[in-house]
Amino acid sequence: MGQKKPLFRSVNTRTHGVRHGSGAKAKWERHTKAASTNVAAYGSMHSGQRHGYDYTPLFKFLLSRAGKNWDDVYSEAISRLDQEEPIWWMVAPDLSEGQAVFRSGESSYFSGLYIDDDNALALVNPDVTAENMTPFCACCTHTLNGVRLTTPFPRVDDLSQD
Ligand SMILES: [Zn+2]
Repeated sequence: MGQKKPLFRSVNTRTHGVRHGSGAKAKWERHTKAASTNVAAYGSMHSGQRHGYDYTPLFKFLLSRAGKNWDDVYSEAISRLDQEEPIWWMVAPDLSEGQAVFRSGESSYFSGLYIDDDNALALVNPDVTAENMTPFCACCTHTLNGVRLTTPFPRVDDLSQD
């Protein structure tokens, strides 16, 4: 067995330079709620970040293990982490507590996972993809599972219809 790399990396912390336009964003959020799409879970729970550490490798690892036995995935993940908590940012104990996507960074998201009845890791909502997920704002480049979103941010003009 080769040596396994850790599933986290330390990063230089930097100040957040991007300010979001609160007016348009609030409007969009109302619009989103009205539309009642899969975006309800965005931005809830944790930001997926712990000060000075980036757990993106963990999220990619977990995503790649969808369909696998949870006990195996969990024990490998734990052996390659400094702490257990980031696992639970992404993985829900069952579907009812799962999130379609969760925020893993300032403008990066990963698909939410849960442990299914067969004790396998599963996607909460496989229908949410980088092609159909709606970004939060126009000013950031958002990614889902490391892939850039292709749906443009809705213009304010489009939002005033309802
Ligand atoms: Zn932005």
